[in-house]
This record gives sequence, C-alpha cells and structure tokens, in this order.
Amino acid sequence: MIVLMRSNATTRQISEVIAHIRAQGYDVHLSEGGERTIIGIVGNGSAIHPEQLSMMDGVEDVLKTSHPYKIASRHYHPEDSEIPLGNVVVGSQDLAIIAGPCSVEGRSPMLEIAHMLKEAGATALRGGAFKPRTSPYSFQGLGEEGLKILAEAREQTGLPIVTEVMDAALVPMVCEYADVLQIGARNMQNYALLHAVGESQHTVLLKRGMSSTIEELLMAAEYILSHGNMRVMLCERGIRTFETETRNTFDLNAVVALKQLTHLPVLADPSHATGKWEYVEGVALGAIAAGADGLLIEVHQEPEKAMSDGRQSLRPDHFAALVERVRHLAEVLNRRVPSTTSTHV
Ligand code: PEP
Ligand code: MN
Repeated sequence: MIVLMRSNATTRQISEVIAHIRAQGYDVHLSEGGERTIIGIVGNGSAIHPEQLSMMDGVEDVLKTSHPYKIASRHYHPEDSEIPLGNVVVGSQDLAIIAGPCSVEGRSPMLEIAHMLKEAGATALRGGAFKPRTSPYSFQGLGEEGLKILAEAREQTGLPIVTEVMDAALVPMVCEYADVLQIGARNMQNYALLHAVGESQHTVLLKRGMSSTIEELLMAAEYILSHGNMRVMLCERGIRTFETETRNTFDLNAVVALKQLTHLPVLADPSHATGKWEYVEGVALGAIAAGADGLLIEVHQEPEKAMSDGRQSLRPDHFAALVERVRHLAEVLNRRVPSTTSTHV
C-alpha cells in the first residue's frame, strides 16, 4: 500500500501518518522527491485499513498496489531515479556505456584497454575480479589483485569501476575498490548478498537472473531498496529460451516493461544476451531505441585469447564504432552520451 500525501501536507501531518502505520507493526519508506511526499508501507504487520488512513489529515489518496514490490514501483516514485556514475547521471537524459573485458586478466592489458575505452567514449570500466564460472576448472578471476588493478585503471583514466561481488562476506572488500557492485545473473536471488549490498549504500548493478521473471528481478531490487540503498540499476542480460543460435535471448520486452513498472534505471547487456560479438551492436541499438538507460559491453584487445567470454567480446575499434552509432541514435531520442575524454583526474 502507498499513501500519497497532499502537496501542502505539513511535517506534523506526515509524522502522524507514519506513526499510525508504525503502530500497526509496519515499516515506512519515504519518498520526498518531486512535489509531494509518498509513503510506502512495507513489512508484515496486522491488517491496515486504507479507509482510516485516507481520513487522516494531509492524506490525498491511499493506493493499493497489485505488485508485491513497493519501493521499486513507479507508483511509489513516479520520477526516474537518477544515479551518478562518473560524469554521467544514469536515469537522466544521459546514456551510460559501461565497457571492459569479461575478466581482469592482468595489470598491463587492463590498463591498456582502460585507456582505449576512455578514448572511445566509455563512461565506466567493467572487469570481473571474482568470476562466476559454470565450470570449477575455468579461470576464476584474480580476486583482490584484480580489484587493485581496476582501482589503478580508475586512477589513470578517471573512469568509475563496475565489478562483480559474488559473496556477502566480500562486500566490504569490493566496496573499497569499486564504484559499482555488480550482482551477477547467477546471484540475483542470493538474498544474503542482496541484504549485504543493500546495507553497503554502494551503487548496485543488479543483473536479471537467466530464468527469472521481470517481477522476480524487481523483488530482488526490492531487497536492496528495503535496506535503504536506493542506488540500484537494473540490467537485462538475456534469458534462457529454446534458442541455440544465441547464448541467451535478449528480452526487449523487459526493457520496455521495466521502464514503465519501475523508476530504477535499466541497462542492457547485449554481450551476454547474444554470446556473439557480431550480434552485439544490433541488439545494443535496439535496446537504446526501446528506452534503455545505457549499455554493458564486453571488449577485449584480442578476443581470441580472452580468458572468458572472448566469443562475445568486441575489439576496441568495433566498440568505438558502436559508441558513435549510439551517439547518433541518442540525438533522435533526445538523449546523449557525454564525452569522457575531456575529464581529468
Ligand atoms: C559478466 O558480466 O561478466 C557476467 C558474468 O554476467 P552475467 O552474470 O549476466 O552472466
Ligand atoms: Mn562475461
């Protein structure tokens, strides 16, 4: 349930409504952006009577939401949430382009590609230091050493760092180095991890589970939001279908639906969705045209030698061409890809 306060409601009226809700054993979540205060009722308490609430002073309306997610819902927060990331604001007119290799493979290749990506117009740098691999015999990532390399790449380029955290116990360590904590598809419903990143107050990039519904993705986001961390970006990265030509099936519907259902920014990852570099650009442009707020793109200097996901990685020149196309498309959509090359550290 969501309580819409009148635009001229006083602080005292708002406090009385909150006290009433709390007295029934619920928690409240306040949204004070825009013109009015909106109070989300969350948690488990005794039956709450909307009629009683709607009669309280200062209350304009009480909405019963049919969705199980509340704080993530657009009803609760009608304006787009805006999340700063380096020199872009994700969720605004800006498009974010997060790019980098699947895994951090070593200091010099990472630093080299970081400069190339910045030059090409990337707005943030990605790279996995802890890798969730299907096989225990595949490369598992460089761990903290990889995080240190990423931090050095940020120091040299000024680009913020996005990297995956796989375990709740590692959240404090990853927070020391990263600007954005990525929750991978395989961990979308790891509730202990969602809890830990929710408490961290670090920006989170939450990827959709490969067999998760849109509602399950929003419920996973709700876990993070309900711990008071409002800086959550969602990412559609393809879901499992019967199709075998592509690694996954990019769900364009999800981009459109999520933009309507939630105020959280929605990014698209055409690399993991397609699994083939030659399909990445087309899906990337389609996602931006459909309303995505940015992209996550895997790029590698020598994809054939990559330690993970080489088949789907773009070469730097292809990535630069993609950014140019996105820039052109952005113009017709009244969006923009801010330039990063003029930023100094
Ligand atoms: C990744 O971003 O490299 C990754 C492992 O993605 P996902 O969790 O979407 O498979
Ligand atoms: Mn990958």
